[in-house]
Amino acid sequence: MRIILLGPPGSGKGTQGDLIQHTYALPKISSGDLLREAISNGTELGKKAESFYNRGELVSDDIVLAMIAERIRLDDCKPGFILDGFPRNIPQAQKLVDIDPENPEIALDIRLPDKIIVERLSARRICSQCSQIYNLAQKPPEQEATCDKCGGELIQRKDDTADVILRRLQVYQKQTLPLVEYYQNRNVYFFVDGEGTAQEVFQRITSLLDSRISQLRVQI
Ligand code: AMP
Repeated sequence: MRIILLGPPGSGKGTQGDLIQHTYALPKISSGDLLREAISNGTELGKKAESFYNRGELVSDDIVLAMIAERIRLDDCKPGFILDGFPRNIPQAQKLVDIDPENPEIALDIRLPDKIIVERLSARRICSQCSQIYNLAQKPPEQEATCDKCGGELIQRKDDTADVILRRLQVYQKQTLPLVEYYQNRNVYFFVDGEGTAQEVFQRITSLLDSRISQLRVQI
């Protein structure tokens, strides 16, 4: 099964994607993580993507599609996979069906009010080594600026600054929100209230996923 995590930046897609990954044993593919890796490794694609990323604009479809297609081709994606941050617009969603025509899909749209999103993103820190997500207010690391999991240094993403956050929300409204109707038309769209603790949100997600899995009689 292809599990697509929709929703604005900061709504909890990364955290929920990690929880789904561990519970359902499916790999999580984050287009943002792939881009951050390419940018920090200074690859050709990374160099092309960097200025768009830093401004909170969408990176060109060709670059992101090339990365996603390469990742989906790996064997661990055969039983299905979780997509965090991809697709971000209708052309990407259409291409995704071409790349992966077989898997049944489900789109989970995790939503939060903008005010909470801005608070969350401003307090977000990520591990520079393993991408584990922290929140200085709600989920601080045990040791300051150090990842509990791998000891890596915690950093603030370049695009988690106030002005870039606002731009990312505008980009989401304009380019990503039309995906709601796209997936509604495919009858695979589910709204998820993103308020509450990560575990509370995950409960909502598991009940949707479990009923979809039994409906489809798919094994994952
Ligand atoms: P994220 O980590 O998902 O919040 O993504 C961070 C940034 O990476 C976005 O603001 C975009 O600049 C870029 N990005 C991530 N996913 C995509 C995508 N599917 N299409 C275009 N740009 C993307």
